[in-house]
Amino acid sequence: MTCDRCENIVAYTRRYSGEKLCLQCFSKSIARKTAKTISRYNMIKRNELVAVAVSGGKDSLALLKVIDEMASVHSFRIKAVTIDEGIPGYRDEALGIVEEFCSKLGVEHGVYSYKDLFEMTLDEALDLRENKTSSCSICGTLRRRAIDHAARDIGADVIATGHNLDDVLQTFLINMLSGDTAKIGWMSPDTTGTLRRIKPFCEIYESELVYYAFINDIPFQSEPCPHMNEGIRTEIREFLNSLEGRHSGVKNSLYQSVLRVSQAVKSSSIKQKTRCKRCGNECTSSVCSVCSVISGLKGNQT
Ligand code: SF4
Ligand code: ZN
Ligand code: ZN
Repeated sequence: MTCDRCENIVAYTRRYSGEKLCLQCFSKSIARKTAKTISRYNMIKRNELVAVAVSGGKDSLALLKVIDEMASVHSFRIKAVTIDEGIPGYRDEALGIVEEFCSKLGVEHGVYSYKDLFEMTLDEALDLRENKTSSCSICGTLRRRAIDHAARDIGADVIATGHNLDDVLQTFLINMLSGDTAKIGWMSPDTTGTLRRIKPFCEIYESELVYYAFINDIPFQSEPCPHMNEGIRTEIREFLNSLEGRHSGVKNSLYQSVLRVSQAVKSSSIKQKTRCKRCGNECTSSVCSVCSVISGLKGNQT
């Protein structure tokens, strides 16, 4: 069978659209789809510096490759930043992979650690927690701040992360299930502000990025994070995958709902931004979430 776009042999069938593509056309389709998402939401402007947050997982390395190819043609610059949470055995492997991949592409790369920024590694923070807050919830709050810091440090205008369509849907359902509707308002693409956060892969299925990484020889981190199965995310991932298996395209439809719901929540709950009285960062209450987490943990220190 031949590819829908050229004379090559078909390697991939896109179930939700019925498209049949060869290896080259599949890779081009991922790059094109990413470019369309970037331009639809005006994610990157001319001459801007984009900080690409690269963890060492397939999504962020694939993003670095796609966005690096795009940067030269579309007149913007990129630099890679990696956050070292301090998870022994896991992050060390990732750091090696990222370093090598960045030097292969010729992309400048910096590493920022929780230890330097918050005076504790993630493992030290988790030892201090007394309640049932999940590891990923603490880690996510700290990582967001660490990436902001890294981006400001390199003078970036935009932060690009490798979150894919599945990640966005999972986060949406987690927020719904935990009753955290305010966070849903932050989920629509960020088009304002001095340091924008963008997710250029937000309309691409995770399974397609796995395939893209595989056929483009993007290195894979073999060691999973030891904390990854503590939260509800893995169960939601399996639930969505099983739905998609039986009802092809359901993830795309849910994504459209996420956009609409998130816009509605955003416009109904615009809170006045203020500055955290402890660290000075922008937030919506007197003490930001990072300072609350850190002071809670330090208060548990003996
Ligand atoms: Fe952090 Fe959770 Fe990701 Fe591990 S799986 S790096 S704890 S957010
Ligand atoms: Zn083709
Ligand atoms: Zn603060």
